Amino acid sequence: MRRMEEVVGRARAAFNSGRSRPLEFRLQQLRNLERMVQEKEREIVAAIGADLHKCGHNAYSHEIMGVLGELALAMDKLPSWAAPRPVRRNLLTLRDEAYINPEPLGVVLVMGAWNYPFVLVVQPLIGAIAAGNAVVVKPSEVSEHTSQLIADILPQYLDQELYPVVTGGVPETTELLTQRFDHIIYTGSSAVGKIVMAAAAKHLTPVTLELGGKSPCYIDTDCDLAVACRRITWGKYMNCGQTCIAPDYILCHPSIQSQVVENIKATLREFYGEDVKKCPDYERIINKRHFKRIMSLLEGQKIAYGGETDEASCFIAPTILTDVSAESKVMEEEIFGPVLPILSVKNVDEAIEFINRREKPLALYVFSNDKKVIKRVISETSSGGVTGNDVIMHFFLATLPFGGVGNSGMGAYHGKHSFDTFSHHRSCLIKDLKMESTNAVRYPPITDKKLGW
Ligand code: NAD
Repeated sequence: MRRMEEVVGRARAAFNSGRSRPLEFRLQQLRNLERMVQEKEREIVAAIGADLHKCGHNAYSHEIMGVLGELALAMDKLPSWAAPRPVRRNLLTLRDEAYINPEPLGVVLVMGAWNYPFVLVVQPLIGAIAAGNAVVVKPSEVSEHTSQLIADILPQYLDQELYPVVTGGVPETTELLTQRFDHIIYTGSSAVGKIVMAAAAKHLTPVTLELGGKSPCYIDTDCDLAVACRRITWGKYMNCGQTCIAPDYILCHPSIQSQVVENIKATLREFYGEDVKKCPDYERIINKRHFKRIMSLLEGQKIAYGGETDEASCFIAPTILTDVSAESKVMEEEIFGPVLPILSVKNVDEAIEFINRREKPLALYVFSNDKKVIKRVISETSSGGVTGNDVIMHFFLATLPFGGVGNSGMGAYHGKHSFDTFSHHRSCLIKDLKMESTNAVRYPPITDKKLGW
């Protein structure tokens, strides 16, 4: 308990010293972070590789590129994001200064998940530094290599008191959560999200919860199936299906189910070759616990393709399930693995009804040649984010806030949205001490004469 108290206490004292506030300091820390990513790129790629059996190219494009992009944007835009924003005044304040001043919140806790162990920790860190906060960084213990690397290299580049790293599992995190923070951003499961929120409530600490859920993918009958299935295959099987916004399942009319299967099969062969196990572009399940969990979802299912597994190496081949019942176990929880169930719906109305009967997902995908169908699905459902005619891609556009809604989370980040999430937008009104007579009307005694009655 004392260790967490000390770490957070030191971060708070450093924040209270005021040194994280000047823009030049924030920019310097962001530049240092950029230098860290550039100089330690090989180590970062190797750690991600060791955690998820990920090749260098994929580690770079899945994680490092996103961090460098977010850094470049924050360094370029920080002066304008942090500038006070004048607001419109009314008759009573015409002569006054009225503006919104973004100010840092204090000490922010960033808790990351294991599936993209670098980017999910560093992107929120960038926003919290840009906004002028102290930040306690807690990577996921499940991705142990990346977690340890972050703990080793971050202090070599950033102010050590303002930006400490805490490693460890549930006991350490539980202790950490007893401390008082000014904001917590948590990425992980909805179940742990509730634990984080309950701990935060004790201190009235606001939270951003980046959670998960089952992200549906509706394929309209009027659709270029070859293109749709190629994009779905990419987003579903990247990182071995361990992507929070991966399409979890497909909804389509039974008449196109076999074409969907054939197109995905053809794309899988094109992407990963005849022996996916040997393909450097195909990752592994993070650990045995998750391997067994995913295996249990396959019980009693009709496997249209894939299904090969190897427990020793946590390998599960890209798998497609057909004629899946909405009541089956695979439809109860987020799959978070390379298993793609296809369920039948009669039409778009039934797809919308199906989606709306369940928890609000983190992402929603709809494929159609007809934009009206896409717009209709968007207007009649809810989800954290949505991409029409593609998957995953809304994550990469920093002008779009990234976050969930309902069971898939609350709050959002990325780009300026991160800066806003980690700032208090303070209302400032500065009057002068002249023209006191104009205030007479608000001071007692209030008479008819003063009111002009
Ligand atoms: P995880 O097990 O790595 O947990 C995430 C964090 O929670 C870790 O830092 C861990 O130490 C901490 N933690 C775990 N159990 C805890 C407990 N009992 N008490 C306190 N802290 C605890 O990750 P996970 O939960 O397996 O992550 C997978 C989930 O995350 C999926 O549902 C996925 O969809 C979701 N996810 C969401 C996003 C997003 O951006 N919305 C991104 C990635 C993953």
